[in-house]
Amino acid sequence: MKVPFFSLSNIHQPLKEEFLEALSRILDKGDFILGKDVLAFEQNFAKYCDSSFSIGVGNGLDALKIALKTLNIGLGDEVIVPAHTYIATWLAVSEVGATPVPVDVCNDTMNINPKLIEAKISNKTKAIMPVHIYGLPCDMDAIGAIAQKHKLYIVEDFAQAQGATYKGKRAGSFGEINGCSFYPSKNIGAMGDAGAITTGNEIFAEKASMIRNYGSKVKYHHEFEGVNSRLDTFQAAVLDLKLTKLDKQNKERRKVALWYKERFQNNDKIKIQHIPENCESVYHLFTIRTRKRDNLQKFLTEKGIGTIIHYPIAPHLQKAYTQLKHKKGSFPISEAIAEETLSLPLFLGITKEQVNYVCDAVLEFLN
Ligand SMILES: *Cc1c(COP(=O)(O)O)cnc(C)c1O
Repeated sequence: MKVPFFSLSNIHQPLKEEFLEALSRILDKGDFILGKDVLAFEQNFAKYCDSSFSIGVGNGLDALKIALKTLNIGLGDEVIVPAHTYIATWLAVSEVGATPVPVDVCNDTMNINPKLIEAKISNKTKAIMPVHIYGLPCDMDAIGAIAQKHKLYIVEDFAQAQGATYKGKRAGSFGEINGCSFYPSKNIGAMGDAGAITTGNEIFAEKASMIRNYGSKVKYHHEFEGVNSRLDTFQAAVLDLKLTKLDKQNKERRKVALWYKERFQNNDKIKIQHIPENCESVYHLFTIRTRKRDNLQKFLTEKGIGTIIHYPIAPHLQKAYTQLKHKKGSFPISEAIAEETLSLPLFLGITKEQVNYVCDAVLEFLN
């Protein structure tokens, strides 16, 4: 048996005719950038996220950067980020000129540890950026209370968590302004790069939508220095079609995750992400942790099972951030995750037989 790490065909094949129809319609009309479909998708996506406004942009990193710029966060400011995340979270902060200030994550949820945040707040801190890692929402009540006490913004990075809920409320509705990615492998992905901002604040929404389009509302009138990060009409059409299937697909992912859990729960050699009762994860990834990770990965490769490490090096230990002078050992849980984590196959259409084959192989290796 072969089990790929990932496949999009079960998501895309049933919609192929509709995608081609949309492409043909947009081709005939010629409105390739910020066309009608963009507006429709923005409205539908905002609603989906329990938010009021959504702004389509070029990719997830730009969504986060534009969100920070909308809040006037830049040179000299500090933003709290988790030490365990994809590097894009940090890059959004440093690219606008601010400094990412890392906080270690919880050992069980692998999300930012609210108890460690206050010690990192200084008079330069402007915002907290929670990342809902692997599709699991952060402890938003605790983070919200800290933000309120210290008058900080919350900017969610919900690139991995479209549709996930915390106390029944969707990711992308907690921060003043938030960003997510529609990279093809995300729970909802485009056919290329794309991203979106969500906000409940009309003024922020208008400013963010101007920033993405050269700081302009009226063509050739530029109120400030914006950027070019617009959403393609075709990508919006693709995303709008896929949005209607997202809840069903997230449910499917939870079912697959449950298959894994049934086999791995109560096994003291394998650690899996703890899902608190008030959260519903959308399982962007199903990860396990083991000290023998590298050898396990080799073993699974030999058995025809695809796996990926998310992520092998924590951002604070990346070459790109040597100037921040973080030392090995400063964020022990995030560093341990980088050494132990392994993502197992999880995609639409994976069968129970395939999941059992993966579980058998993992358990064979560890026992
Ligand atoms: C994918 C991802 C991003 C960046 O998205 P791009 O569209 O690739 O720019 C940001 N943060 C997290 C947590 C991600 O997983």
